[in-house]
Parts: sequence; C-alpha cells; structure tokens
Amino acid sequence: MPRRLFAASGLASLFAVWALVAGYASAQTVQTPKSCQFSDSHFHLTNYIQEGPSAGEVLKLMGDRVCRTTLFGIPLQQEWSYRESGNIAPSYYLEADAPLYYYSFTDAQIALQYRALTPEQQRRVDPMITGFNPADMYAADHVRRVLTLFPGVFTGIGEFSVHKEFVSPKIAGGGASLTDPSLDRLLDFAGQAGLVVILHNDMVRPFTKDAKVRGYFDQLTALYARHPNTTIIWAHAGMGRIVQPVKSEATYLEEILANPAMKNVNFDISWDEVAKYLVATDETSTLAAALINKYPDRFLFGSDVVAPRSPEQYFAVYETYKPLWAKLTPEAREKVLNGNYQRLFDAARVKVRAWEQANARP
Ligand SMILES: [Zn+2]
Repeated sequence: MPRRLFAASGLASLFAVWALVAGYASAQTVQTPKSCQFSDSHFHLTNYIQEGPSAGEVLKLMGDRVCRTTLFGIPLQQEWSYRESGNIAPSYYLEADAPLYYYSFTDAQIALQYRALTPEQQRRVDPMITGFNPADMYAADHVRRVLTLFPGVFTGIGEFSVHKEFVSPKIAGGGASLTDPSLDRLLDFAGQAGLVVILHNDMVRPFTKDAKVRGYFDQLTALYARHPNTTIIWAHAGMGRIVQPVKSEATYLEEILANPAMKNVNFDISWDEVAKYLVATDETSTLAAALINKYPDRFLFGSDVVAPRSPEQYFAVYETYKPLWAKLTPEAREKVLNGNYQRLFDAARVKVRAWEQANARP
C-alpha cells in the first residue's frame, strides 16, 4: 500500500474511533431542561390495543418538567372477539374475556416513533424492547433480531411480565414461569448486550395469605441470583392493583437490598394503583421512605402511565407520590427522581451501542 494512502486510511480509522467515542460521550451528556423534576423509568407509549400518542406528542407533554423517559409499548394485545363483545371494542385487558396475545410489531412501532424524533429529542429517550414471549426459548433471539434491525435505538427490554394478576391467565398459549430456562436465556442475553431489564412479577398471588408469600419470592430471588451481571428493575417492587404490600414487605425487599450479590436488582416506584398503597396514610409513606432513604441507589421513579394524551393524565402519578417525595432525604430524592435513571440508562446505552458495533451490523 502506498505510504500516503496508508497514512490516510490510518487517519480515517483513527477518525472512526474518535467519532465512536465522541458519539458515546454525547450520548452520555444529554441536555435536559434545567428545571426538570424527574426522569420516567416506566412509560408506555401505547395501550393494550397498540394505540397511543406519537413520541413527538409525548416530548411536548414532557416539556421542561420531565428530564428523560423510557419508551415502550405493551407486549400483549387484547383480542376483540366479536362473538364475545359484539360491536363494543375492548381496549383494556379487564374489558374482555378474550385472550391476550404477544404482539411483536410493537417493537417496530416504538423504533419508528423514536426515529421520527430529532437527535436532540432522541437523547432524552430510552426505547425498550417488549414484543417477545418470555416463555419461549426464542425470546432472546427476538431481542437480538430487533437490535440488529434497529441499531442505535434500544436501551433495554421490558416492561414484560411473568406472573401478573389478571393478565397471566389470559395469555393465549399460557403464561410464563420464573423457573423456565427461556427466562434464563433471555436474562443472560440482556446481560451480555448490556440491556436494562424491567420485569413485572407480583410479590404474591392475589388474595394470598402471608404464609404463602415465599412461593414467587423464592423463585424470583433465585432468578436474580443466577443473573448477577444483568441490570434488573423489579417493576412496582412486586405490588399491583390488588397485590398489596405483604406484611413486613420491607423485610422481604431488604433480603434483596442488603445482599451484596444482588446489587444489580433495583425497584421502581410507579403506577397509580401502587401509589394508593404506598401513600395511603402517613405511616405507609413513612415506612416506604425509610427503606428508600436507607438504600437510595436502588429505587427509581416511573409513572407507568399508559398512552397519555394530557398533562393532567401524565403528571398525576408523580403528584400522587408527593407525600413520599417529601419524606425522602434531599440526596435520596434526587437519586430516585433522576440520578439513578441517568446512572443505569447511560451505562446501558454505552454497552448496548458497543454490542451493536461488534455484533449487529445488518
Ligand atoms: Zn407498566
């Protein structure tokens, strides 16, 4: 190779490396509005029939109040069975007996919504892959395929559910299980690629007596223990619409929080249905705040709002949790509302982009 050409190509590859590093750096230094109040670690752009506002409309709703947000659909679609519902179209899983089925197209929809944003808007958004069946050994392959088809877009997987009240029993073909090797394959892959995982699993079955709490909890902690290198956010810390905090809930959560081998496991404080328990009384919010203040690096706020159309709808959950925010130390409040999001999602972005560079060239 002529010397000058060699020098030029050397320069070119140097420039490529520099561009890559600069790209990572700029991904990390996201410009967020100075007055923003929180980042949203749990946000559904679309509902159970795959409808919702555009990502651009959501950015408008966020305005200067929201620093950054995750962006995901819902992996399940509510079937409209004419035999059951006639002309009354269900839009929520509680509005029909017809099954829910996995709707993988959600990931393409989310990717295209993200790509329609300006680069500046994109830097405030972390799209997540959800359109897979966690009971399928091929779930990990779906995630890999989405990363390959849409490089530069996704930061994590989820929210996906294993055991979820009312939802799991309605899934066509049966629900998932915490002991299924398909879930191990999925979490292994997420760890390899650096993807943040948002997992919904109820703490207990609805209406379960406390003596039976250890059923899911033991399976779940065993699963977490098998994947120490995967960053996991346990959605709503296992609570739900009717899955209320179990007796001594904090003791259970501390089994995870105090275990250095599970420092990869985090919790989101989200969903109006869960807020009704956590800020029910002065005592409940004091108890929740005490745990968060003790482990301030492990909790993230998420709205869990679904397809919002108005600021009132979008900010309601943050407002509902205000009694809890008031009881946090300034340090814990900053971390739960923004700092932990930045730390986890920035780290994931860098890792996933590196994985894509190495593996996902289409
Ligand atoms: Zn959710």
